[in-house]
Amino acid sequence: MPLFFLMLCISTDFSTEVEKPVRPQVVEIAVTTLGLSDIVETIGGEHVKVIPLVPGAVDPHKVTPRASMLLKLSRADALASMGLGYEHAYLPALLEKVGRKDLGRGDGDVSQGGANHFVASDFIGVALEIPVKLDRGAGVDVHPLGNSHWNTNPHLMRKVAVGLRDFLCLQQPQFKEDFFKNWEAWDKKAGELIAHWTKWLTPAKAQSIVTYHRSWSYFAQSFGLVLRGEVEPKPGMPPTTRHLIALSKTMTEHKVRVILMEPWYSEGKLGNLSSMTGAKVVKVASVSGNSGYLDWMHTVVSSVAGALDIPEPMSGKF
Ligand SMILES: [Zn+2]
Repeated sequence: MPLFFLMLCISTDFSTEVEKPVRPQVVEIAVTTLGLSDIVETIGGEHVKVIPLVPGAVDPHKVTPRASMLLKLSRADALASMGLGYEHAYLPALLEKVGRKDLGRGDGDVSQGGANHFVASDFIGVALEIPVKLDRGAGVDVHPLGNSHWNTNPHLMRKVAVGLRDFLCLQQPQFKEDFFKNWEAWDKKAGELIAHWTKWLTPAKAQSIVTYHRSWSYFAQSFGLVLRGEVEPKPGMPPTTRHLIALSKTMTEHKVRVILMEPWYSEGKLGNLSSMTGAKVVKVASVSGNSGYLDWMHTVVSSVAGALDIPEPMSGKF
């Protein structure tokens, strides 16, 4: 074996011994989105310290790995991620570099988590839009494992919160009672809000919408909206004039009144789509910012309802 290969193997073996056998009183958990951070913090309470890897609501497909993230990952006791390749742009590379068996290797599929890596998508059931076969010839598909934007369905975040509660109980069994109590309070609030949002969006059921990126499939599924297409011909691909013309025909045919898009996409890319079809452009991030998951979801529901002229029901207001 050449010497440099031997040295590489030795250094890899050393780097996997970073695991911490004794759990501290306050567990430091690195988290990839602020939505997940909010729930880890709510359930974990005083027994956890959350370390967000990505600050703010940003396009997950465009996050670049940084040295500061590597440092946070190497120091954290545990990691919580969205999974399903949501963090494909940076986490597999960081996990590869940090080389901790307890966080997983991140080879290709980030969902290969270790004992101290909570992969949220493990708790959502079957993902939507898993490609039958990958068509690499038509450009890069940023959803090769299926649609990774499951957080836009609050029912799924409720399932994930149960998984997070149990993960924290494994991390610090001595605080199990606190984690159950905190989770119960969050789950009750989430359940009441979901009932309120469902009532609010009942008149929107079976109404058609168009989105910029294929990031709202789970949201549409949870509230019964029908997606009639995306501005991007394929997740991650910029629109062409031919595609926009075809989309405007579909929108007119199905009376689409809303184009839902994240603020990080340029409205200029829509061309005349809004004016030609009369559809309103609704700008809202597909991931929670600093205000917390439930507050963000409320904003999403309120924005879509507002564009469809649906007033908020009086009962169960946020
Ligand atoms: Zn995406």
